[in-house]
Amino acid sequence: MDTYTVTYVAMGMTDDVTTCEICGKPELKGTVRLMLVDSDGNSEGEVFAGVSCAAKRAGRKATEIRTEAKRADKARENAVREAHSAWRSAHSEWTCKVRDAHFGPVLPRPMVVCEYYSTPEFKAANAAWIAANPEPPRPHGW
Ligand SMILES: [Zn+2]
Repeated sequence: MDTYTVTYVAMGMTDDVTTCEICGKPELKGTVRLMLVDSDGNSEGEVFAGVSCAAKRAGRKATEIRTEAKRADKARENAVREAHSAWRSAHSEWTCKVRDAHFGPVLPRPMVVCEYYSTPEFKAANAAWIAANPEPPRPHGW
């Protein structure tokens, strides 16, 4: 006989949902986003619930659920911060490459930069270079 085990994981707290989806209690300060995870680690859906209902559903203590939710929120915040800082350095590297590509051997000596910028040759070369070397995409939620 196959056993089918599922686990509940607290994914975070939110004050976007203030009604417990388990007991229907409204006007909560916030709810726990409780995800149902199967034995392969896949999400089987989620429910927003007050802390005590979430704990009951997960078969754990309310304090454990709250701690787990807060830890998940913190981890997500850190991931966002890291993604932003990775993007910042990737972007500044990209900016340097743009500059190198345009001002390395390319800039005609007697021409001042702003004149060079306004030439059709520059505009075409710039567009072509950027098409071939796209700007790093901004992280979601920037
Ligand atoms: Zn409830």
